[in-house]
Amino acid sequence: MPSKTWCVQELLKVTTAYLKEKHVEAPRLNAEVLLAHQLDLDRVTLYLNFDQPLTEEELSGYRSLVKRRAAREPLQYITGVQEFWSLQMTVGPDVLIPRPETEILVEQALSLATETAAEKEDPLAIAELGTGCGAIAIVLARELTRVLIRATDVSQAALAVARHNARTHGVSDRIVFMKGDLWEPLKAGPWGFDLVVSNPPYVAASEMGDLPPEVRDHEPRRALDGGHEGMHFLKRIINGAPGFLNPGGWLVLEMAPHQMDRALELMDRSKAYDHKTRLKDYSGRYRVIQARKA
Ligand code: SAM
Ligand code: GLN
Repeated sequence: MPSKTWCVQELLKVTTAYLKEKHVEAPRLNAEVLLAHQLDLDRVTLYLNFDQPLTEEELSGYRSLVKRRAAREPLQYITGVQEFWSLQMTVGPDVLIPRPETEILVEQALSLATETAAEKEDPLAIAELGTGCGAIAIVLARELTRVLIRATDVSQAALAVARHNARTHGVSDRIVFMKGDLWEPLKAGPWGFDLVVSNPPYVAASEMGDLPPEVRDHEPRRALDGGHEGMHFLKRIINGAPGFLNPGGWLVLEMAPHQMDRALELMDRSKAYDHKTRLKDYSGRYRVIQARKA
């Protein structure tokens, strides 16, 4: 008996119901994105081809993508991309998928960097700690042009993805990727930075198990686990930054809303910072602290 022929519209309907049953958020959107990916179309074109029948090969390809998503693999690892600051970033299981709330960190870093650049003859010197797929460094390099960014990560595999993204977006000459533990690679030079930016791992070790399966079971633990109260890296960055910042240079950090008080306290205790400010993300939660080296 010949197997049933499926058209786009029917297939989307059945797949949406299936993903919903598997507790995938936004099941219809997921079904569409995966089908568009399988057929190598954009979603608008998919809509224009609602009655198009699928070949056996397309159907079996789509089924295996849907199966992965139903097992709660993140959509972005299946399609291999995440948009950040309107740029397509290649992502995969070696890197954290850049989050929309991190755009506020970038926005703030950009605004401080632009002010600093106006008062400086030499190109800006920026450090990013824990660059992952490189999203933050790449946006800064594209927007600022007269800049040299040193971006570190402990994961060689993540740095390979970041280098690829930097090439794709034409900023390889403005970013030096360096492997090592946090500040370690930056000790190689007598460099002073105008800006240090980081979205470090900040999930409390005790809360790792509560994350959604997409995050908990698929994203690199090393990118998320911030140890006791999620403060391990934040503390090392706050305490270490004054040794690397130029006088008047800025530290801009992403963290969880409940970590703000502790972070400000660490900054007070170090006596190295002034102009401490916290900023909200687009969902209205405190997400970023910026402070200036006094
Ligand atoms: N900057 C990217 C972003 O915002 O999407 C990734 C941020 S992710 C939350 C944290 C990154 O820090 C991961 O890429 C992880 O590999 C890296 N990392 C973890 N421990 C590190 C360490 N000891 N030194 C440097 N980087 C580290
Ligand atoms: N916002 C991330 C999450 O919980 C955590 C990111 C981080 O640790 N830097 O999905």
